[in-house]
Parts: sequence; structure tokens; C-alpha cells
Amino acid sequence: MGRRMVEQGSDNDGPAIPVSDAIPNEVVITYDKDHPKMDLGTMYPSMKEFRLAVRQFAINEEFDIGTEKSDKKRFRGFCKSSEDCPWRIVGSLQDDKCTVKVTVLVDQHDCVSSSRVKTITPSQDWVSNKAVSILRNSPNMGAKELQKKLQEQHKVTILYDTVWRGKEKALAEVYGKWEESFEMLYKWKAEVLKRSPGSVVEIEVLEIDGHI
Ligand SMILES: [Zn+2]
Repeated sequence: MGRRMVEQGSDNDGPAIPVSDAIPNEVVITYDKDHPKMDLGTMYPSMKEFRLAVRQFAINEEFDIGTEKSDKKRFRGFCKSSEDCPWRIVGSLQDDKCTVKVTVLVDQHDCVSSSRVKTITPSQDWVSNKAVSILRNSPNMGAKELQKKLQEQHKVTILYDTVWRGKEKALAEVYGKWEESFEMLYKWKAEVLKRSPGSVVEIEVLEIDGHI
């Protein structure tokens, strides 16, 4: 989404006033990723984050969420825990083509809570989202251990395959960001040398398990 600057005014009506229509883009939406709210009118920064949040919401509320007729502009979810449970949600992409708002919520379950937990199926994205902070602290953790940790923490059953793929995604994010900071370090070195040509800057590189 581009920014548009409009110059208004002429010699006859005073100084030119620049007008920017970019203000809605600057709204910052924050929410609790572990306990997201799904009240009517709640806003999320993107469809991806809304989808993650709705899945977390379902896990917290102990029901299994299904989707129907969802596309890039609209997410339609329902409760899969029983065939005729009325719980429904719709998240709609807003005019800024970025933020998502909860536009429909039928916040009522007829399904039986005790039968809910076992059917919950976290997605790869959900795993990846949770795994980033875990892997940042223990980058060598195996998928099996990660599966056990997530299952205990969130009281869910996750397929090994889903954990494995989610872990790969999370690692890409952890190391991706890390490589960026590595690049910054070299830029900083070049900058120091440019400013004070006599100085010596050594960047020590340690290699562990093939990773620098
Ligand atoms: Zn239900």
C-alpha cells in the first residue's frame, strides 16, 4: 500500500499543506499470543496472525476448530467437536488489505467439553510459532523432545510429522534473523575502519555443528 502526499493550496490561499492518507497503516495492534481474545470487533494485524490466534483460542477453550469457505479475505471457522455445535467465527480482511477483524462470533458450545481435548490438531504454523522461543534457548533440541515439551505444556497431541515441519520453519526464522545480525556486525566493522583507518577489528567466528 503506497503513501500519497497531496500538495494543496495555491498562491491565493496561503502556504501549501501536505496531507498524508497513510495514518491507518500506523495503527499498532498488540495482543496476548498465548491467550488471544476473539470478541466481536477484535482486530488482528494480519490474516496469518489471526489464523494462529484463532487456533490458540480453540486450544485454550478445548475444542477442535474446522474451517469452511475460507479464502484470503475471509476466515470462517466452526467447532468440529460435535456435529451440531453452534460455535462459529468469521474474521474479515479490512480495507487496508492487512488487518483482520472478528465480524461474526457465535460464542456458544453444545459439544461436551470432556470429549474435546483429544481431537485438537495443532498445525505446523502453530508449532513453529511456539518453537521459536524454545529453539532460541536450546537450538539442538530434537523434534521428539520438542513434541514432548509442547504436548505437556499445552495438553495437546501433535503428530510427529507436524512437529518436525514446524521445527524446520522455526529454525529458519531463528537462524534467518541471526544471519541478519551477523551481516550487521560486518557492516559495523567496515564503518569503524572507515572512520579510524588505523584501528584493528577482529571478528571471531566459532563453528559449532556446522553452524557458524
Ligand atoms: Zn463446540
